[in-house]
Amino acid sequence: MTVVTRFAPSPTGRLHVGNIRTALHNMLWARKQGGRFILRLDDTDLERSSEDHVEAIRADLQWLGLTPDEEHRQSLRFDLYDAALKTLAAAGRAYPAYETTQELELKRKVQLSRGKPPVYDRAALELTDADRKRFEAEGRRPHWRFRLDHGAPIAWEDLIRGPQHFDPALLSDPVIRRADGSWLYMLPSSVDDIDMGVTHVVRGEDHVTNTALQIQMFEALGASPPAFAHEALLVGSEGKLSKRLGSLGVEAMRADGIEPIALLAKLARIGTSLPVEPVTDARPLIEGFDFSTFGRAPARFDMEELEGLNARVVHQLDFSRTDGRLPPGMTEEAWTAIRPNIRKVADAGEWWQIIEGPVRHAAAPEDREFIRAAAQAAEALDWTTPVWATLTGMLKQSSGRTGKSLFLPLRQALTGRDSGPEMAVLLPLIGKQESLRRLNAST
Ligand code: GLU
Repeated sequence: MTVVTRFAPSPTGRLHVGNIRTALHNMLWARKQGGRFILRLDDTDLERSSEDHVEAIRADLQWLGLTPDEEHRQSLRFDLYDAALKTLAAAGRAYPAYETTQELELKRKVQLSRGKPPVYDRAALELTDADRKRFEAEGRRPHWRFRLDHGAPIAWEDLIRGPQHFDPALLSDPVIRRADGSWLYMLPSSVDDIDMGVTHVVRGEDHVTNTALQIQMFEALGASPPAFAHEALLVGSEGKLSKRLGSLGVEAMRADGIEPIALLAKLARIGTSLPVEPVTDARPLIEGFDFSTFGRAPARFDMEELEGLNARVVHQLDFSRTDGRLPPGMTEEAWTAIRPNIRKVADAGEWWQIIEGPVRHAAAPEDREFIRAAAQAAEALDWTTPVWATLTGMLKQSSGRTGKSLFLPLRQALTGRDSGPEMAVLLPLIGKQESLRRLNAST
């Protein structure tokens, strides 16, 4: 069996960390199993879906390296949904209903006031041909409901939540098509999952009840349901489902200097029993992926933690992965020297400026003689050897200075800063001529 997973966003907005986590888990499972990962654009809502959002979703996935093997769009597949509805109607598993939204609302209120669950009463099943004609003559168009089979409990073994049971009699027959002919999410999704051979549906636990309904749709359409894994929701660090989390878009992270792999490393493991680690490619995330490590409690997403992880990723990031984000002319050597001191790739510019200059610093009066001695010694040294160690060794002897009083005035004169990357690496990058100029200029 080839594993097939799908990420099925509705292109009605930008992707946020919650969607990305779902996409990632689908991708990781497919890759781990040597299967296929599908991007399915759930764009049946033609009014709310937009081409800009489609483009943005593709771009975000590409930036993250979550490249799908296939892409499908529901808006190009309406014929299949029409055919499925016909099949269901012919089998008595779908029926037209004519209640208006207000009428349904009223029914719900009455049920609730009587202490009953607000389950649809199936009044539409009692309609005669004459009733239907009358409604049509009034200009009413039917919406369509899927008729649940109340005969047996719905059950599945969820890969994350374990055994799940639903009594179909306690659920409303879901509306699958609106009176204006537009499709609700439920049926097209099941039709596509069957047609695309989806073997595993990995999505948020807000879809658990939908799954119960869809399992019956799969069966009514003559297919066996895929496996399901419902992940606990992602919440903001303040504990509740926060709006801010929804606004934590991929685009903002990118602008903020978050490395895609840092975001993936976080989202792959958050809410699982596995540690979040600063990886530099997806391989360990694929290898370690395992539904049995997922917890049931909401996973807490903290932007500060992500920033910390990002710094740890940057500290090991290969020069080749900085692709065009470093200042022009900055070499691999310089990158390797600088990266332990930065949290984001963009911060490299600051240190490159220190290597390239100009750096201006006025040595304290009590250090001037020491710096002059340093300049003289540096001039005489062979700069093809480890010059910092030799220089500081000589100065230690000649001046009697040690520790901070030896190193700090030199660092200040050479970089204009009190701290930064190791001087041993920085000095050859600044070069002999420029180093001498800085030393002399500071006295
Ligand atoms: N378009 C649905 C959503 O974004 C897809 C849910 C699913 O994965 O089936 O919620």
